[in-house]
Amino acid sequence: MSESLLPNNIAELKAYSSAKSEKLTGTTWLNANESPYAKEFQLSLNNLNRYPEPQPENVINAYCSYAQLNAEQVLMTRGADEGIELLMRTYCESGVDSIAIFTPTYGMYKVSADTQNIAINELSQKLLLDAEVSEINEAVGKAKLVFVCNPNNPTGSLTPINKIAALAKSLEGKAIVVVDEAYIEFCPEHSAVSLLQDFNNIAVLRTLSKAFALAGLRTGFLLANSSLLAPVRKVIAPYPVSTAVALIAEQALSSDSVTQMRRQVSILNGNKERLKTLLNGSPKVTQVLSGEGNFVTLQLKDKNDIDAAMQQGTIMRPFSLYGDENWLRISIGNEQELEQVRLWLEQPE
Ligand SMILES: *Cc1c(COP(=O)(O)O)cnc(C)c1O
Repeated sequence: MSESLLPNNIAELKAYSSAKSEKLTGTTWLNANESPYAKEFQLSLNNLNRYPEPQPENVINAYCSYAQLNAEQVLMTRGADEGIELLMRTYCESGVDSIAIFTPTYGMYKVSADTQNIAINELSQKLLLDAEVSEINEAVGKAKLVFVCNPNNPTGSLTPINKIAALAKSLEGKAIVVVDEAYIEFCPEHSAVSLLQDFNNIAVLRTLSKAFALAGLRTGFLLANSSLLAPVRKVIAPYPVSTAVALIAEQALSSDSVTQMRRQVSILNGNKERLKTLLNGSPKVTQVLSGEGNFVTLQLKDKNDIDAAMQQGTIMRPFSLYGDENWLRISIGNEQELEQVRLWLEQPE
């Protein structure tokens, strides 16, 4: 009965199937690009009768010193996912406006757009990487937000910063280039944050879910100049960050914690090289998309090989790409987890 009350775009939604929404049983979790390093936090909370700071000053300041920005350029969000949704709610008119994405790419851009009845101009990652900026500009058309996932999930490919700058320049007054840097800690020299000095139509999405090993905390940051962020500050919920989350985020951004994060990133980048070597030498694997980020994407000769891994408790993320169903994304884990992948790869066919 209440179904008849639904707008069409909501009735037609397919629920987003995240790596965690399926009930899987396993012992080695390499399907959600999480960090293998869990850290313990202690909390002492005695003021939960009070509303939290809308934007907790200590966290904002800590992130500013980490990202080398000013406080007015940083908005704390409930994960980068909320940043994606907020940009659409702020800048796109439902039923009128569109966004551009370069597929294959992160699934939430589509989910957010669909829930808000925003059209999607689906372009290819290949176009983004290979075409001239003038051609990309033309293909983007009237899209208000142009999502560049960098490095791109799930291919790991990188769009050079000078290309992002040229694209932003060509779209000035017409569109915002949204650079999703969920994995940038694995290749920090490629960050577009320095472009904020010159561009008011660039927004950068960041998260504590990946390299900072805090997927469970639900914390992200939207970085942009104040002219771009001011309207977003009007749209975001009044108290988006709980007191408990703010306290943990503050600890996670202390200079000691940032040093620890960087050390873990270098271990994980090393493990990624070892995994790539294993994959390139495996008869089970026909293609490896090697790139940046804490994951490797590959194509299997036989899709059924995934089942064997699942049965052994090694959970990775299967998906279809370019019309083929035999693709797999493996998150980079610790030594032990890498060993489980190796054992699976070396099983006789
Ligand atoms: C994981 C991921 C996110 C989501 O980050 P949260 O902060 O956990 O919401 C955003 N973008 C990309 C490309 C991701 O892979």
